[in-house]
Amino acid sequence: MKRFIYTFLLLFVFAFWDLPTNPVLAQTEVKLVLGNPSNAAADLTESNNYLVVHSGFILSYNKDRGGANWVAWHLSKTDIADAERTNAFAPDTSLPRDWWIKPTDLILKGYDRGHLCPSEERTDSDKNNRETFLMSNMVPQTARLNRGAWKSLETYIQKTIPKTNSEAYIIAGCYGDKGRIKDKITIPTNCYKIAVIMPEGDNDLRRITKNTRVIAVDMPNESDNKSGWRNYITTVDDLESKTGYDFLSSLPKQIEAVLEAGKDNK
Ligand code: MN
Repeated sequence: MKRFIYTFLLLFVFAFWDLPTNPVLAQTEVKLVLGNPSNAAADLTESNNYLVVHSGFILSYNKDRGGANWVAWHLSKTDIADAERTNAFAPDTSLPRDWWIKPTDLILKGYDRGHLCPSEERTDSDKNNRETFLMSNMVPQTARLNRGAWKSLETYIQKTIPKTNSEAYIIAGCYGDKGRIKDKITIPTNCYKIAVIMPEGDNDLRRITKNTRVIAVDMPNESDNKSGWRNYITTVDDLESKTGYDFLSSLPKQIEAVLEAGKDNK
């Protein structure tokens, strides 16, 4: 009899295991389908790896660097529409007040406020576009990088998704330290992006195979960059060794290994 009771209890636990207990958790699951690269947590004692969930993207915030370690989002063709660029630069007030970066903090000659999740990829509504202008989504990028190779990959992805009826999981971030702005914001040496692109469909995680297209780039934050993104193609393995993060960690290990070792050649 005892055995039956235990079996019943176990079935009960598993039946409810998957139910999102709150909206924040549900959104986290959607945008972190490919895993949480740095095991960021919504725990204020983790001030340099603090998980922030917005409606359009999720990020790991780094208080000491004054910006995100990475930002992750999902892109479908419906995210790209007619809403106007809001230019609504603002502090991310979901962070504790003494962690805030103000728009005026990120001003330095030769540098732009560069988006990690691009404004153009959240043009389905005014509200979602505003969110991309939160300073937690901004990083000091040289004008040459922001308007050159970085922009060229953004544009390529924004054209490819609707044209090929695809969707993508994208992670972008920065690493390295080549100086500080107002002793608040670290200027990164490099910015990277990983885009996992697949035809539209359901059950995303299960549809990713060893043949799924993965674009990974590592771009120096310099003023003499080349303008085309293909000059900066690398492997996810390389980005993992540079950042210390584990990307694509929720994939089956054999698939993860193949996708992380490959270089995009389309
Ligand atoms: Mn990995």
